[in-house]
Amino acid sequence: MRPQRPSRLFVGASEIATCTGPPRSSPAEDPAAVVRGAAVLVRDGRIEAIGAERELRAAGSDPEIVDCSGGLLTPGLVDSHTHAVFGRWRTDEYVLRCRGVPYQEIARRGGGINASVRDLRSRSEDELLELALPRLDEMLRNGTTTAEVKSGYGLCTADELKMLRVVQRLAGLQPITLVPTFLGAHEVPPEYRDRRAAYVDLLVREMIPAVAEAGLAVFCDVFMEPGVFDRRESATILRAALEAGLMVKLHADELEGSGGAELAVELGAASADHLGAVSAAGVAAIGRSSTVATLLPTTLFFLGRRAYAPARALLEAGATVALATDFNPGSSPVCSLPFVLTTACSQMAMEPAEALRAATAGGAAALRLADGTGCLRPGAPADLALWHVPAVEHLPYRVAGRVLAAVWKAGERVV
Ligand SMILES: [Zn+2]
Repeated sequence: MRPQRPSRLFVGASEIATCTGPPRSSPAEDPAAVVRGAAVLVRDGRIEAIGAERELRAAGSDPEIVDCSGGLLTPGLVDSHTHAVFGRWRTDEYVLRCRGVPYQEIARRGGGINASVRDLRSRSEDELLELALPRLDEMLRNGTTTAEVKSGYGLCTADELKMLRVVQRLAGLQPITLVPTFLGAHEVPPEYRDRRAAYVDLLVREMIPAVAEAGLAVFCDVFMEPGVFDRRESATILRAALEAGLMVKLHADELEGSGGAELAVELGAASADHLGAVSAAGVAAIGRSSTVATLLPTTLFFLGRRAYAPARALLEAGATVALATDFNPGSSPVCSLPFVLTTACSQMAMEPAEALRAATAGGAAALRLADGTGCLRPGAPADLALWHVPAVEHLPYRVAGRVLAAVWKAGERVV
């Protein structure tokens, strides 16, 4: 018989945010579903019970005690939208943007997504793996225990498969659970600029079947935005992905509203992401659907934009909201979900409890994880973050502070 891992009892937390509440705060309901004066019993990598310490001490058959005195205990954070595998950082472009050079001009000088594409194509799988490991470690040290990672800097079959193999290898080399997404439709690569239809054809006939066949992705995503992929192209690509057995997501309405939210709902997408310029009809469509509204406020913050996604309207329409970093070298070099919480509360008027739920249970919903990831409840994975703060509202309030105390993945301490 396999030796059982020791049970652990987490005691003394000033608040335990179970994140099992509804997406939106109301006088009667708390999205973070905070409990006080309780303990959490963990056994064999899962949460066994949350309740009175005295009872759980007995039930745990001499558990190892984890002292959380005065801290906030939450689920490990779920970052449901990242581009964490890439080559070099793009600080050169950042300096240009700080000088006021517009993005179109930066792209004309060889910057933008295509700069990352050239860079990634020139690197080996091992090199990309070595570059990604410390970045994932930084995410872990900001409380993230589950993260989606997209391809999309290869933009040809061989390099897209290379990126997804890097994600697959990374999953076995560090503690964060990784959910892979194929984003071959991130941009039209330069060699197809004058024959876009041929690139859509390549995606549909070759890349998507190859990715599905290799079992290297769970989701397929498309960057739908004027000048990138239009509605018809996006629908064609995502329908091919659904046929190949992948679930779908959509970069929708980031800077200009173009019906992306509506298309995501029509296709039954797991999430519509960005939504900085979503229309009222798009908000209503998402509110009536099971498509999660994944908001990425640090991208708009980093780009210096003033207008953010209408988080309140989405919540009031009934949407499940997720918050994610959009971690990427161009528009959001952000590994910290706590900082995303700050931007969500300060710039989009989300309440701290709504924001925490969105970066835990909301993220898990956007990744269609039904095993309890993102929540603290019996049966859920024992992915836990302990913070040096006494209550949920301190997390977004302590802007960019070093507030993480410890992280457990499947019950084992990893930070
Ligand atoms: Zn993105």
